[in-house]
Amino acid sequence: MSKLSLDRILQSQGFGTRKYCRALIEDGDVSIGGEVQDNYKATIETERLVLEVFGEEWVYREHLYIALYKPSDYECSRKPSHHPGVLTLLPEQFTWREVQPVGRLDHDTTGMLLMSDDGPFIHAQSSPKRHVPKVYQATTAEPVTEELVAQLLAGVQLHDEPAPLAAVTCIKRGDNQLEIVLEQGKYHQVKRMLAAAGNHCTALHRSAIGQLELSSLGLQEGEWCYLTPEQLALLT
Ligand code: URA
Repeated sequence: MSKLSLDRILQSQGFGTRKYCRALIEDGDVSIGGEVQDNYKATIETERLVLEVFGEEWVYREHLYIALYKPSDYECSRKPSHHPGVLTLLPEQFTWREVQPVGRLDHDTTGMLLMSDDGPFIHAQSSPKRHVPKVYQATTAEPVTEELVAQLLAGVQLHDEPAPLAAVTCIKRGDNQLEIVLEQGKYHQVKRMLAAAGNHCTALHRSAIGQLELSSLGLQEGEWCYLTPEQLALLT
């Protein structure tokens, strides 16, 4: 149970500065349970709180845990340089809340991207100590051979890594299709591992993180959803 003043609540949800949120409340743009609440000092219980802002329902969430089906040609950086940023696919309030990607996907990689505004969660999830398996579907320029699979499983040496990096599992899914599971999240890791093994990645898709599969979320490219506690528990 936690009570906060209404202006703080709106600010915490990403509606803008405290000053702007106070003006919004005083203008009668915020209702709770169908009644306009125009006193920004009113203290409100946040548990199970549902607001209406400009007539639209807004469920209070202390933190955001979301999954985005990242399309190609979007950058994960907060300051994208060549393509739009993934934040442009989310409600504006999320930018105010400083939602960040949990790890990164290359601009041309598609698939599951976790995003959150919970610093400790992001940190824990990205920690190399956690060994969260990430499942990738790679399309290769050259046919997938048994030798390639064996090499990726045995480990390949990347020039800036102290030791060879190996896939946890690696399965041929088609003539030029490879499913590869990695526990690390090194820069361009799949592409560089394939290149080091003498092939070339022409398309890359992340289909799962831990036990959470993108296909179970019912998202189309560019769509996102909130993750339930049960889904979050699968990220291990
Ligand atoms: N490995 C890559 O090479 N790129 C990604 O986006 C993710 C993993």
